This record gives sequence, structure tokens and C-alpha cells, in this order.
Amino acid sequence: MSKLRFKVVESAFEKKTIAVTEPTEKPSEYFGSLVFNREKMFKYLPEKVYEKLTDCIDNNTPLDRETANAVAAGMKRWALEMGVTHYTHWFHPLTEGTAEKHDAFIQPDGKGGVIEEFDGKLLIQQEPDASSFPNGGIRNTFEARGYSAWDPSSPAFIVGDTLCIPTIFIAYTGESLDYKTPLLKSLEAVNKAAVDVCHYFDPAVKKVYSYLGWEQEYFLVDEGLYAARPDLLMTGRTLMGHESSKNQQLEDHYFGAIPPRVLEFMKELEIESLKLGIPLKTRHNEVAPNQFELAPVFEECNLANDHNLLVMALMRNIARKHGFRVLLHEKPFKGVNGSGKHNNWSLGTDTGTLLMAPGKTPEENLRFVTFVVNVLKAVHTHNALLKASISSATNAHRLGANEAPPAIISCFLGTQLSAVLEHLENSDTENFILAGKQGMKLDIARIPELLIDNTDRNRTSPFAFTGNRFEFRAVGSSANCASAMLVLNAAVAEQLKNFKVAVDAKIASGMDKFAAIVEVLRQVTKECKAIHFDGNGYSEEWKAEAARRGLDCETSVPRIFDAYLKESSIRMFESTGVMNRKELVARNEVKWEMYTKKVQIEARVLGDLAMNHIIPMAIKYQSSLIDNVYKMKGLFPADKAEHLSSKNMEIIEEIANHTIFIKEKVDEMIEKRKVANKIPEEREKAIAYHDNIIPLMEAIRYHIDKLELTVDDQIWTLPKYRELLFIR
Ligand code: ADP
Ligand code: MG
Repeated sequence: MSKLRFKVVESAFEKKTIAVTEPTEKPSEYFGSLVFNREKMFKYLPEKVYEKLTDCIDNNTPLDRETANAVAAGMKRWALEMGVTHYTHWFHPLTEGTAEKHDAFIQPDGKGGVIEEFDGKLLIQQEPDASSFPNGGIRNTFEARGYSAWDPSSPAFIVGDTLCIPTIFIAYTGESLDYKTPLLKSLEAVNKAAVDVCHYFDPAVKKVYSYLGWEQEYFLVDEGLYAARPDLLMTGRTLMGHESSKNQQLEDHYFGAIPPRVLEFMKELEIESLKLGIPLKTRHNEVAPNQFELAPVFEECNLANDHNLLVMALMRNIARKHGFRVLLHEKPFKGVNGSGKHNNWSLGTDTGTLLMAPGKTPEENLRFVTFVVNVLKAVHTHNALLKASISSATNAHRLGANEAPPAIISCFLGTQLSAVLEHLENSDTENFILAGKQGMKLDIARIPELLIDNTDRNRTSPFAFTGNRFEFRAVGSSANCASAMLVLNAAVAEQLKNFKVAVDAKIASGMDKFAAIVEVLRQVTKECKAIHFDGNGYSEEWKAEAARRGLDCETSVPRIFDAYLKESSIRMFESTGVMNRKELVARNEVKWEMYTKKVQIEARVLGDLAMNHIIPMAIKYQSSLIDNVYKMKGLFPADKAEHLSSKNMEIIEEIANHTIFIKEKVDEMIEKRKVANKIPEEREKAIAYHDNIIPLMEAIRYHIDKLELTVDDQIWTLPKYRELLFIR
């Protein structure tokens, strides 16, 4: 009998809820208590320094060394008062996590003692010597070391005994080695381009912010059960496991009462997040059993992304305190919903206008249509690239599966906005702009202020307009949002620039400003019509239709990555100053390499489990059947024994067929890996893994799952789906 499985199932049932002690203060009182936010800056910095720092944050002005020293001194004073002993530069390497190297504040004082030291130099720049982070060859020469540099636009915060300073991570030669650097550049690009376009409507606008509100989906699994599944432990997903008889058919988990053990986990997560200034707002059960979601109020994109990464780290730690493991993998279980991370995205001005929201006046509505149409055009032009930005070995298991957005990027607009765009496309400018008594009147004044029919409609769309924002739903639950956000912001920046050039040309040739805007919008709307799709994204017809429309339909992740190196993509990244060709080439090397490694690890784990767990279990059960068949012969006359054993004989044969198949395919998989591993180019290697290894993994899994249905439950060693998904 499999001891571990039954032991962990039993102890999972016995686990008690660990009650969280709630702070005595109200959330409004402890919100941000672990963050060096403006309130702390004001308290701990001299007035002049405070002004210089906030000016640097708000307006990107450079910070001199003297000010940096003063900031560091204030930050240190605050941190020491908070009982902090270490500090770290906190950055986002290309591994889809965060990295930190902790240093103690203490320095020898030269008299045999130590002093707490932290000056502007240590705040601004460090060399983490993190030479084993992926860099795609950029840092292969010995002089090209990487360093981290302070990002003042995201405030420092405290985790445990450590002051964490958000930083970018770049090579000495200037190329980015992280996600934050290009994200910040894309935010600057979209700010500039959008401010220029805003000036057609409101000359007072000085800054445009990109906003991100992420919704994080995740699974919780009991820690003991998790430990008894080597595949979960090593790859974050189950590589085998037959569907349980009940999973999500009844949709009885969705928005249901949150189980008590989970609720305490959520409470603690929320308290810790609020202390870190992360405005968590919603929590609920998701569709699949043991699947949950949380979401904060949207924030400026860079900060929102830092907060998402922090929350993912907090989730991992806090889950363990409650005897859970959190699964951030996009598809931990076959046959039940996977996890995404919807990225709600919009642009808004420093004057308080949400640019993707309809307004009250015709002019405001023209501004609204302007931004929406330019976003559609950007998404259309770069649909393959946007897909690449959310593609990974792990998200591939979710995209295109039945609940997730399909592996084709399209935009859902809803009936009202569709009608507006259709009208724009089909009317002529003179009809569209009517001169009324109070000056201009636009024929689009009929846009209702609230586009109610959009919120939460059409779950099948990967990029949906939802009333005052777009929701990019194809982002994977484990991803760094920056990957998608930097592409989106940069693409929109490029398009807004193109739009402005076209409008300005018409104005220069004597056309009225609003007429020029309407004319160009009409043209752009026509050009990007193909991206608009309100129908069922899961249907087979859509795949055919999308291909006819010229949208990118590639499904192989290593080939999807090619989109980063298309000339149109490189031009877009270079013209917006977000990344250059060299960086793009290097980063793709990293993407392919990561892809290969992930599949390689999975294939190895699957092979090991098949040989060390599955086949021995199957043989053990088969042997007991064989034993039974022999013993039947001693008990009964030959014909009768044969009759009574006929079904067991069938099972014996079935098991043999499955185990033979599994063994053969595991051997074949090892051979194919050897061949693939010899391929020198990262791209070709990743393609070999995609084309040759993954289909074998699926075939092996099929036979393992059949065995799971056949073999005696008492000897099955791996916790089953029903245990993983329903015990909490
Ligand atoms: P859903 O209906 O998809 O669950 P919610 O109303 O819960 O959506 O919002 C999801 C996320 O979208 C939240 O983080 C919310 O703050 C964010 N959000 C709302 N409005 C905007 C906006 N204009 N720009 C960016 N994010 C937004
Ligand atoms: Mg949503």
C-alpha cells in the first residue's frame, strides 16, 4: 500500500484553520506602513530634498549625488527605526520572478566596531554580480558586467528585516537585462505620444499615465499532497492524473463561500499587502475547485507591476504558513480551468481624464474614439507580437484550451462601441461634424456615458474593451505583467505618433482640426477592421476566419517568439526608444532557452515518474491479478476457471499494453532529447522540443491516465485529482 499518499490525505483532512490575528488598527491606518512613501519622505527628508525627489518622481528630472545621499540617509533612518538590518536592490531578471541580494547595513568602523552605513552611492547603484541570470549573450564578455540602478518612481519597502529598493538591471554597455527597464521606457514613450494627441483636445494635459489593474488567479493545494506529487514540486503542474468524476461541471465553486482555511490565508495576505501599500480589493473563488482570484485597485503601471510581483512572492510565503502551496502555473490540472492574469489597462491624464472612457460632450467623445481606435490599430498591427509577449512554455497549456482566450489576438468591442465605429466608418466627415449654435457638434454625441453591456461580457476574447479600459486576458498567471505591458504601451505609442503625423499633415493643408481627426480616424478604423471580433473565440470557424483576415494564428510558442524579430517589431521598439535590435535578439535567445529548459525538465520528471512510480505500480497490480488467475485454476475445473478469470486476463493484457507503450515512448523521448540537446541554435532547439518532445509527453500521459483508472487505488502512490482539488 502506498503509505505516503494515504498519510498526506489523512493529515490534510486533519489540518486546523490557523486563525490570523488582525491588526488593532484600521486598514486605513496601517496601509503603506512598510513603504517609504511620500508621507515618510516628507517626515524623514529635509524639505529641499523632498521637493527634489518628488520632482524627480513626477517629472523624471535627474537626481544629483548630494540629493541621493540625503535620500539614502533619510531612508536609512526610517529603516533602522523599523528594526531593519539589511538592504537589497530588488529587480526583475528575465526569469519571471524577482531577485535580491541582501547586504547588511553594518560596516567596520576601523576601531574594531561597526556602524550602520548606507549612502547615496549604495542607494543609486550596485553590482549584484548576478552573472548567472539569463542575458542572451549580452554579458558574455568579461568586462560587460551588469548593475542595478534605483528606480525612484517605485517606492522602497520593507520585507522582514530587509529594506528593498526597486531597481532596473542593465549591462554596463547599457542594454537592459530585465523587464523593468523597457517597461519604464515604454511608459515614457506612451506618455509623450499620448500627451501630444491629448493636446488636440486639452492643451492643459502635461502627463499621461498608463494604468494597470491586474487580476491574479491561482490554485491552492494542501502542502502534504503537494509534496507527494513530484511533478507539482518540480514543474508546478501535474504531468499526469485522470480527471476526477466531479470537477467544475456544476460550477458550484465559483463565487461560493470561501473555505475557512483558505479565508485565513487570504486575510493574512491582504493584511500584509495593505502594509506594503498594495490596495487589494477583491477576493473570490474561481471556476475550478481550489482556484481563487484576487485583485487590487488599478495603479500606475510600473507600480502595479511591482505590486503584482510582490504579491506573488507574498502568496508563496503566506500559503506555507497555512499549510498550502500556491500554484501560479497557468495550467496545473488538465481538464479544469487554468489560471490567467487579466491585465486591465488604460491611459489617463494628470488632469484626471480616463482617455478610454466616453465623456459628456461631443468633443470628449471624439477624444474617446480617438484613443480607442488608435489602440485597436496598434493591436492589429502588432497582434503577433502581443501574442508573443504573453507566450511561454507554461501559458501554452492554457491558451487555446477551452476556457482560456484562444491563441489568436482579437478585440471585443460590444454592440455600442461597434455601432459607433461602424457609423464613423460609413458616414462622411461633413455629416459627422455639424456646425451647431455653440460651435462644433459631433454626430457621435450619442455614446452613452456608461457602456454597460461591455463589462464582463465575452469571456472568450483575449483583448476586450470593458467600458473604460481594455482587458488583456491572455496574460498568464505566472507571468511578469511587464512583458505584455511594455509591448502594448510601446505599440500604442508608435500608433499615436503615426496618427499625429497624419492629422497634422491634414491640418497643415488647411483642414479643420476636428475634421482632420475624423478623417484619419475613419481611415484607421478601416485599416484595422480585421482585429475586431465579438463572436465566440473558441469556435473552429473563428480560427478559419481569423486566418482569412490575416491575423497571426501560429500556435507553436518557439515560432510565436519570432514576432519579436520581425522588422516591423524592431522598428516599433527602436522608434519608441524601448529596445534596440541587439537587446531584442538577446532576449529572444533567453526566451527560447527558457522554453527548452522548461520542457526538458518536464520531460525528465515525466520519464522518471513513469519508470519509478507508474510502471512498478501497474506491474504490482498486474502480478496480483496473475496470481489470482493461477489460484483460480487450483480451485475450479479448467473451463470454469477460464471463464471466471476472463476479465482479469483482459486487464492483465491491458496493463501490459499500456506499460509497453509507456516504456517505449519514454525511451524514444530520451533519444529525441539527446538529438535536440545537440542543436546549437536556441531557436531550433526549442522548436525540436516543441515538435518532438511535447507530443510524446502527451502520448505517455494518456496511457498513464488510463492505468490510473485500472490499477487498484490502494497501491496508487500519487495523490489523485479528486484529492488535490477537493481537500482544503
Ligand atoms: P472584473 O469584472 O473583470 O472582475 P473588476 O471591476 O473587478 O473587473 O476590475 C478588475 C480590475 O480592473 C481591477 O484591478 C480594477 O481596479 C481595474 N480597473 C478598473 N478600471 C480601470 C481602468 N480604467 N484602467 C485600468 N484598470 C482598471
Ligand atoms: Mg476581469
